[in-house]
Amino acid sequence: MKITTAAYAGEPVKICTDASFKDINSLFTGNTVIVTDEHVFYLHENKFAGRPVIQVKSGEENKIQSAVDRIVTELLELNVDKSWMLIGVGGGVLTDMAGYAASIYKRGIKLGLVPTTILGMTDAAIGGKNGVNVGMYKNMVGTTYRPQFILYDWNFLDTLPKDEFVNGFAEIIKHACIKDVGMFKELQQHSIEYYIENRRALVILIEKNIAIKTAIVVSDEHETGERYLLNFGHTFGHAIENLYRLPHGHAVSIGMQMAAKISEELTGFDPESTQMLAKLSTQYGLPVSREIDPEKVLSLLSKDKKRQGSGINFVLLDRIGNGLVKPVSLETLRSLTKKMMH
Ligand code: NAD
Repeated sequence: MKITTAAYAGEPVKICTDASFKDINSLFTGNTVIVTDEHVFYLHENKFAGRPVIQVKSGEENKIQSAVDRIVTELLELNVDKSWMLIGVGGGVLTDMAGYAASIYKRGIKLGLVPTTILGMTDAAIGGKNGVNVGMYKNMVGTTYRPQFILYDWNFLDTLPKDEFVNGFAEIIKHACIKDVGMFKELQQHSIEYYIENRRALVILIEKNIAIKTAIVVSDEHETGERYLLNFGHTFGHAIENLYRLPHGHAVSIGMQMAAKISEELTGFDPESTQMLAKLSTQYGLPVSREIDPEKVLSLLSKDKKRQGSGINFVLLDRIGNGLVKPVSLETLRSLTKKMMH
């Protein structure tokens, strides 16, 4: 196991890569309770032997307050107290709910995270944000809460379906767009199949993405600047994800394409680069466009957490590998969205 530490949400978080699930025993010696989803439980039950397990239903539609309430009820039934650690094992949906449950149960118990999807490993488990959806609105309720460790056991990836690799690569492409043109070029050389078959290359890529996300959250814990960049593709992405019931990565991919087109208008981003991004996303199995109802989408955007007054802090690109944040009025977004739909 390789351990590095990163300080965010107040104190250091241990980032444990090349680990085995059993290494939890050396990271925390007290009582633990596992919170996982039904798929991960079915596929990896043997790893949890000897620990109480709370199972939740999988899927974005189950990332809701009532699921967290059920976790809390089960924690009470297990007599979990503040000396215990809750360990969330799963994709981003699960780690978002586990982090939230750990932060509110008895006003906060210890938390460990074991991300099991590409998206969870490279993005969702890092940074301390958690939460649930409220109706159409993504992540409207939640907290920021620090895990003591994030443990990466690559064996979980053995059971991950290809569709979930595709989903996760949207966030990897996002990181490349906002921060790392070298990684963008590397991705252009390969494919999902290459990374599924070459575990070493995949691990190196995941570690690069852990480093990018960690550096951003450490530099801007309270999301006053740099961290906004992580929302590239997510402003529209979040709105269309729940509206059209799209997988997160698909929605983000379409959202990135829309943000690239808006960047052409607002920063002079090269249209050829927009095409390169579309080609790369398609190469990784991601959609880049969809019919949308601009009015419905704009109405959801008006409730976006990044909204300030009559505008939204919107993430644009001025070139591949360099994201920037600018306030853009909802009116401008409305007219550019309508223009895109024609
Ligand atoms: P997910 O958690 O729904 O997982 C996708 C599917 O894969 C689920 O069916 C799950 O049961 C299954 N699965 C998970 N691990 C598996 C494994 N090892 N083998 C087989 N099946 C497995 O989705 P996701 O894409 O991981 O996460 C998306 C969520 O992450 C969204 O809700 C998004 O809002 C959230 N997110 C949060 C942050 C953050 O900073 N907190 C950042 C990005 C995304």
